[in-house]
Amino acid sequence: MSAEAGWDVVVIGAGIIGAACAWRLAERGLRVRVLERDHPAGGSSGKSAAGVRAQFTSDTNILLSKHSIGEYARMPASGYRPAGYLMLVPERQWGVHLAGVERQHVHGVPTEVLTPAQAQRHAPFETGGLGGCTFCPTDGVVDPHELTFEYVRLAREAGVRFSLGTPVTAVSRRGGRWRVTTPAGAVEGEQVLNTAGAWSGEVAALAGLDVPVRPARRMVFTTGPLSLPHRLPMVFDLESGVWLRSEGERLILGRADEADVGWREGMDWAWLEPTLERALERFPWLETASLDRRASWWGYYEITPDHQPVVGRMPGVEGWLNACGFSGHGVMQAAATARVIAQEACFEVPFVDIAPLRYERFAGGVQPAHDIQV
Ligand SMILES: Cc1cc2nc3c(=O)[nH]c(=O)nc-3n(C[C@H](O)[C@H](O)[C@H](O)COP(=O)(O)OP(=O)(O)OC[C@H]3O[C@@H](n4cnc5c(N)ncnc54)[C@H](O)[C@@H]3O)c2cc1C
Repeated sequence: MSAEAGWDVVVIGAGIIGAACAWRLAERGLRVRVLERDHPAGGSSGKSAAGVRAQFTSDTNILLSKHSIGEYARMPASGYRPAGYLMLVPERQWGVHLAGVERQHVHGVPTEVLTPAQAQRHAPFETGGLGGCTFCPTDGVVDPHELTFEYVRLAREAGVRFSLGTPVTAVSRRGGRWRVTTPAGAVEGEQVLNTAGAWSGEVAALAGLDVPVRPARRMVFTTGPLSLPHRLPMVFDLESGVWLRSEGERLILGRADEADVGWREGMDWAWLEPTLERALERFPWLETASLDRRASWWGYYEITPDHQPVVGRMPGVEGWLNACGFSGHGVMQAAATARVIAQEACFEVPFVDIAPLRYERFAGGVQPAHDIQV
């Protein structure tokens, strides 16, 4: 079968990461082809809780988020609202957390350090066991669906060709090029970019590569309308892992079930009770909230062994790039990741040091996660 040739980069997956990367690659004058099994934002990007935060502890994560949030703030289509993130930090984590705030300040992120009593102005909560709280007013929410479509629009305008409803079924290297096969035919490119989200491990396996990204189901529970004195920012209780925020007159909330790994479909309603049990310890006023089952949803996180993404060239594999495995942070880091990938594809030094996110880290065994996970 003959293949459609002449592409510089073939991008696999049109979630927020693939769409943003396609645009930034085309901006550099590269000929870019995107193959998407479903439709843009049909994977995790359309299921996210839409939060964006620069409150991380590592320089790389802080910068990827800070620059992404900066880009979203300049894009009307992003729906960016600086509603803030409030972190409730247990005593034993407080020292490390404060060191992270110092790094955030070095990078110009305006995180405020608050006592639990001061933090009550943002949201009511029980203060037991907390070392302190932090609030960043430039953290907030975006509209990941609109944002993905805006990147698709910008990419198309820059000359990117998208094929939707087009699953990649085989990938091989021949004659110094990548051949990417779909039921609609094959395309050939100098480079391949793997942005298949939770499916990235499977896409890499099509080329015989081992990229350690696995799906992990996450639930978002939605309450009925509540009469709160004001809208709540994203609030994370780092002790229990419970998060919640206002969505209009309602609240959405969740908590990771670390055992829920693999392709498991649908809402896990059995996870509601363990989530509420822990949530009520910190937010007892939730007792009066009702649940709106139909407005609740689930989706896949795309997790790696250290809960950090895999970004950059694949060592020893010419022309293969990864931007995947964001482990729940892909929306907040897409814009800057796209600029990094465009630089990497053009053999330039990325503007954010992505050394901690490079595939090479897996060679020496995987270190435990060092950043704030939620
Ligand atoms: C419940 C939930 C809450 C979340 N909350 C947040 C949050 O508040 N903030 C945040 O930043 N992140 C959050 N995330 C994570 C965020 O959604 C992801 O990190 C992000 O969407 C990843 O984007 P992506 O483009 O890499 O993946 P995806 O959006 O999944 O895109 C991958 C695309 O690849 C396509 N694909 C797969 N296989 C193939 C194939 N063989 N051929 C062609 N195409 C293929 C898929 O159809 C899909 O469209 C949340 C996720 C979930 C599930």
